[in-house]
Parts: sequence; C-alpha cells; structure tokens
Amino acid sequence: MNIILFGPPGAGKGTQAEILVEKHGIVQLSTGDMLRAAVAAGTELGQKAKSVMDAGQLVDDDLIIGIISDRIDEADCKNGFILDGFPRTVAQAEGLDKMLVEKGLKLDKIIEIVVDEKILFDRIETRAQATPEAQRRADDNAETLKKRLSVYHAQTAPVLPYYAAKGVLNKVDGMKSIDDVANQIAGYLK
Ligand code: ADP
Repeated sequence: MNIILFGPPGAGKGTQAEILVEKHGIVQLSTGDMLRAAVAAGTELGQKAKSVMDAGQLVDDDLIIGIISDRIDEADCKNGFILDGFPRTVAQAEGLDKMLVEKGLKLDKIIEIVVDEKILFDRIETRAQATPEAQRRADDNAETLKKRLSVYHAQTAPVLPYYAAKGVLNKVDGMKSIDDVANQIAGYLK
C-alpha cells in the first residue's frame, strides 16, 4: 500500500505515519527527517539544505525527487510506503507520478489532514517546549512556523487540486484526537 499524508506543518503527519507503520508494516518516508539526518551527518546535501530549512523555505525540487526515488528502490519499501512531507510542490507531484510509472508502482490513497491553523501555533509551541533545547528542531518556533505556513499555502496547497482532479484525495478532520484521526484514516484504507 502506497500512501501520501498531506497537511500543513504541525498537522500530525508524523504521528499518523507512525501508527500506519505499526499497523500495515509499511515504511514512513519523511523528507523532513531525511534532510535533518543529512544536516546532522554534515553531508554535502545537509550543508546545502540547512540554511534553506532554518528559513522555512523549500529545498530544491530535483534534489528531493532524486532522494525519494532512490529511497523507494530500497528493499524495505517493497510492502509499501507512506510519503510524509512529499510531494510539497506541483513539480514534485509531477516528478512523483513520472517515477511511479517508471517503477511500475501506483498510489493507493492520498489523505489530507485538515487543521485549524491558529491551533497549529499552540501545537508547535508545545512541541518546542517539551523538547530539550539541544534536540529541538531549528525551525520549531512561532516565527519560522509563520514562514512555513505561508510557504505551504503558496507552494504546497496547489498540490491538492492536482490530486483532487485524479479523484484520489480523501480528507480527515485533524482537530480530533490522535486515535480519532487514526480511525478516520483507517476508514479510507479498508
Ligand atoms: P513540517 O513539520 O513543517 O511539515 P518537515 O519536517 O516535513 O516539516 O520539513 C522540514 C523542512 O525540510 C521544510 O520546511 C523544508 O525546508 C524541508 N523539506 C522537507 N520536505 C521537503 C520537500 N518535499 N521539498 C522541499 N523541502 C522540503
């Protein structure tokens, strides 16, 4: 089963992805996590990505498409994968379609987690406060969140009509409890 989890920063994509990993034995492919790992390891990619990420901007489309394409080819993806944080632009969605055709794969479901953005600020603040400073994400603060949300509206939200037109988009109410959101998602995956 191949799924995309879609939603603005702080919508709970990572939390729901973990639940799906447990339940379906598929892997979570978070481009944010991959980039943070590259930054932590100090690779060339990490060095390129760090300042872009800290500013709340998006890393280059072709770079991200290449990373995902290579990752999907790894053996642990053969039962399926959850894309979390990708595609984030229409160009990435087009790149994904092309690579899936080339690999003989298809997407089963796209789940949009719909949230109230005012409440997102509180969530991000809580997440930042609950995490020791040394482990805190450099982009987890109210100022960068504003930037990340505006980037989401300008560059990522336009991906939604792209999938809606294909008839594969499903919405869940992300303001409910974690379990409730998980149940809504499960309802679409039956
Ligand atoms: P969030 O929790 O805000 O959804 P992520 O962990 O998915 O954030 O991503 C953090 C940052 O990594 C983004 O703000 C962006 O700079 C970069 N990034 C992650 N995924 C992508 C992508 N698909 N395309 C471009 N940049 C990305």
